[in-house]
Amino acid sequence: MSGRENRHPNVVTKVCEYCGRALVVAGAGRPRRYCTAACRQRAYRSRAIAAEVRERIELGQLALQLRDNADRLLLLSQGWHPPDGTDNLDDLLSTTVRLATELSHRGHVLGSDETGHETPLPRSPD
Ligand SMILES: [Zn+2]
Repeated sequence: MSGRENRHPNVVTKVCEYCGRALVVAGAGRPRRYCTAACRQRAYRSRAIAAEVRERIELGQLALQLRDNADRLLLLSQGWHPPDGTDNLDDLLSTTVRLATELSHRGHVLGSDETGHETPLPRSPD
């Protein structure tokens, strides 16, 4: 008998989103996504680590843009004119301030956890 012919139409068979084991989901309430609390916790930690990696990559890109802007400002101050004509100082300054402000607001991640493994992650919400 396939799952679609189940005598209990409100019971569906799913798999744990972390380990892939079969998991029975009752129809009422919020459907379970994980077979055990351990799988739920591991999935939460995986998402938290992935989010931190993404954040570090984005911060690195912001820092590179900021450095590029600082280089352009230095060169402009020395009388350089970019060959592509993009020497609008107001735009460059406002972009630089925006980048620096965003880095300042988001940069807290950079100071934490040099090893990548020792910082305890927050507990998953229940
Ligand atoms: Zn599982």
